[in-house]
Amino acid sequence: MAKSGKHTPYFELLEAQPKAGCPVCRLVYKATDRYLDSLLYEAVLDPDVRAKLKAAQGFCATHVEMLGRRPGRALGIALIYRDIIRAALTSAEEYAPNAPSKLDTLLGRNKPGTRLVQALHTDQACPACQIGAEAEHNYTTLMLEYIEDPEFQEAYAQGEGLCFPHLLAVLDLANTPDEVRNLIDPQAERYRTMLHELDEFIRKRDHRFRHEPMGDEGDVWLRAMNMIVGGAGWGLSARSGGRRSDPIEH
Ligand SMILES: [Zn+2]
Ligand SMILES: [Zn+2]
Repeated sequence: MAKSGKHTPYFELLEAQPKAGCPVCRLVYKATDRYLDSLLYEAVLDPDVRAKLKAAQGFCATHVEMLGRRPGRALGIALIYRDIIRAALTSAEEYAPNAPSKLDTLLGRNKPGTRLVQALHTDQACPACQIGAEAEHNYTTLMLEYIEDPEFQEAYAQGEGLCFPHLLAVLDLANTPDEVRNLIDPQAERYRTMLHELDEFIRKRDHRFRHEPMGDEGDVWLRAMNMIVGGAGWGLSARSGGRRSDPIEH
C-alpha cells in the first residue's frame, strides 16, 4: 500500500509496540486521557463547555473511574456535576404526576414515571468515549497501513500484540492476504506461548505437582483475560504482564 510520509501518530504506534499491553488500547487510553485533561481545564473557564457536558450528563462509568484517579481536575468535575445534579433536582422537584388524559392513555403515555424518566434521561454519548472511538479508528487504520513496512512489521512481531477487539478491527480493514498473514502469524505465536503457559499453570495446580514453584505462568490467567478483552497498559506477555503492570499513568 502506498504510504504517505511517517508522522507523529506512526511513531507513537511504533513506540507502543514493545510496551505492556495492546498498543491500540494504550494509545486510545492516552488520547482520551489528554482530552479529558484539557476538557476539564476548559470546563473551569468556559460555561459553553460545561453546558455540553451537562447535556451529556458527564461521563460513562469507565471514564468516571479514570477521572477518579486524577484529582488534579477536581474543580472542573465539581462544576460540571453541580450543573447535572442541579438539573436532576429541578426535575425531581417539578415532578407532579397528573391524572393521565385520554390522549395519553391512547398513546400509551400514561405510566406515571414516564415524564420524569424523560426529564432525567440523556441519549448523548460520553464525550470521552467519542474521542476514544476516533483514536481507535485512527490507530487501527494506521496499524494496517504500516503492517507491511519492514520496520513496523518487526516491531509488531516482537511486541505484545493486539487484544481481540483491536485484532478484529485491523483484520477487518485488511485488503490483501499478505496483510492478514502479517497480522495473524505473530499473533498465533503469542497464542501458542500463552496456551503453553496456561497448560503449565493448570498442571501445577494439580495436587501432585503443587510443590513445583510457579514460573512465568503464575499470572497467565490475568494476561489471558487481558488478551481477550483488552485494557490500557495491561501486559499480555510474561515479560510485562498480569500483576506486574498497571494501567498507564502517564
Ligand atoms: Zn486493544
Ligand atoms: Zn466514556
